[in-house]
Amino acid sequence: MKLWEGLEQDFNYNAMISQRGIVNLFHSDGQRDEYARRGNGMRIHGVDAELLDRDEVRRMMPYLNFDHARFPILGGLYQKRAGTARHDAVAWGYARGADMRGVDLIQHCEVTGIRRENGVVTGVETTKGFIGCNKLALAAAGHTTTVGRMADLQLPIETHVLQAFVSEGLKPAIDHVITYGAGHFYISQSDKGGLVFGADIDYYSSYAQRGNLATVEHTIEEGVGLIPGLSRAKVLRAWGGVMDMSMDGSPIIDRTSIDNLYLNCGWCYGGFKATPASGFCFAHLIAKNESHHVSRFMRLDRFERGHMIDEGGKGPQPNLH
Ligand SMILES: Cc1cc2nc3c(=O)[nH]c(=O)nc-3n(C[C@H](O)[C@H](O)[C@H](O)COP(=O)(O)OP(=O)(O)OC[C@H]3O[C@@H](n4cnc5c(N)ncnc54)[C@H](O)[C@@H]3O)c2cc1C
Repeated sequence: MKLWEGLEQDFNYNAMISQRGIVNLFHSDGQRDEYARRGNGMRIHGVDAELLDRDEVRRMMPYLNFDHARFPILGGLYQKRAGTARHDAVAWGYARGADMRGVDLIQHCEVTGIRRENGVVTGVETTKGFIGCNKLALAAAGHTTTVGRMADLQLPIETHVLQAFVSEGLKPAIDHVITYGAGHFYISQSDKGGLVFGADIDYYSSYAQRGNLATVEHTIEEGVGLIPGLSRAKVLRAWGGVMDMSMDGSPIIDRTSIDNLYLNCGWCYGGFKATPASGFCFAHLIAKNESHHVSRFMRLDRFERGHMIDEGGKGPQPNLH
């Protein structure tokens, strides 16, 4: 969060970072306990979090369906400093900053092979020729497993499609980010007025960067269950991208069995919000060849050692669906 808060100044670039707050709604006593635990965990780590009751949520968001017969809203976990940012402006800001520091960014250049000699990586084969290196960082998100296979790595990652939707522009109505605890639906409103929303991943693994109608129906159903007025809004467009799903919902930032090959993956569908911290920890790992203390548990071998990270709130676990 602190890195996000100084990012636009670091970039000298407007990334439209908007700290409008997030409310994670809960709908049962068990879920209240779970969110209280999450909020307490955040507070122990110095992050502000507030547990709201039903009336407090109603005052903030009167347009929600509080009397849903099956999943009535009982309250929410509120994090005031959370919010939204324009994702491509963040990418442009980083790209410009990297370029100014002498980094070469080569676009439309696909890695097709990883060359190794005596067990260490010496470079990558690409559609534009061979590029040699002393250290190689693999951060290919939904294509982690396909690129990893080029170095004979079998990684504990599954690729799934996630879709997101944007409605036509509406007058300002929703001034927070909201997640629907009973249905995994989430929504916010962009500065242009479009409602931006989405829900679950497709349950089968796929590398297709496109959506499907079953998930469209499921998402809209959940949205209208939470905000009945949503049924009047027209969906302008939808898009699908591929997610690197880890088996415990937490990421991997670690070395691999190949000494100079480093891995950053498993962000599920929470990788954008983690960008500054993830990049910071990854840079530390690559430069010093040892984990930053923040990412020291995000180990690649935790699945075979049985030391999974019990922090499902960070991302969904495909094996739980
Ligand atoms: C619809 C949708 C909604 C999302 N919503 C959110 C959200 O609300 N909040 C959130 O935090 N996260 C969200 N995410 C997840 C987030 O976008 C990802 O976790 C994040 O972008 C991952 O960042 P990355 O840098 O690891 O990978 P990416 O940004 O995916 O970058 C990986 C790059 O590797 C490149 N690549 C792959 N294979 C090769 C190859 N062989 N050679 C060369 N290059 C290659 C790709 O072209 C790509 O540019 C969403 C994702 C989708 C699809």
